[in-house]
Amino acid sequence: MMNKPHAPWWRRLLGSGVGPNPLGTETPEIAPESSPNSDAPLLAAEHATPTDRRWMTRALELARQAAARGEVPVGAVVYDTTTGEQIAEASNTRQQSNDPTGHAELLAVRAAAATLDDWRLTGCTVVVTLEPCPMCAGMLVNARVGRVVYGADDPKAGACRSLFAITTDTRLNHCCEVVAGLEAERCGRVLTEFFRQRRHEQRAARTPLRAQHNDHNAEAPDDA
Ligand SMILES: [Zn+2]
Repeated sequence: MMNKPHAPWWRRLLGSGVGPNPLGTETPEIAPESSPNSDAPLLAAEHATPTDRRWMTRALELARQAAARGEVPVGAVVYDTTTGEQIAEASNTRQQSNDPTGHAELLAVRAAAATLDDWRLTGCTVVVTLEPCPMCAGMLVNARVGRVVYGADDPKAGACRSLFAITTDTRLNHCCEVVAGLEAERCGRVLTEFFRQRRHEQRAARTPLRAQHNDHNAEAPDDA
């Protein structure tokens, strides 16, 4: 007899208050009132500014460009919060560079700090299509980033609210204002389409040539 699968450990930790997200799994609802940190808010997408939206559109373009290079499609833009001017942009380069730190927001922040000749990005907003991972969330705190605006939640690695809330944890020496879920559906769709395509290609690579030929002649419908 099969036992019912246990809830993931992070679900057990978080308890109730979970909802759907564009990657098809579940993450906690935004509940700033339950955070011990009232100074560093975790805000819903309606709190995004028109400038946030403009740069999220650019970050999505960068994500699509990354997908075309075979990288996990995540894009990021750093802009001056006061003027709205872009300071830097980047997308994932991990495959190409074989660098485990080649995440879009990390590269964009590094480039912005070099441009500003200052490692403190207090006056900057980082816009990124996917919720930052623990490494990048830690980097955002270390860079004293003022605002973080992200798209899709990452239930497997997200460190702004899904698994951890590093960017708004008042025990740390800096907290970022976080706007979560801006263009979440579009940002999530770029990722799901990328992984679907990659699975399709991996299956095709495993299929013998004769079977591929037969499939082609039969015009078999795509299994996606
Ligand atoms: Zn990361």
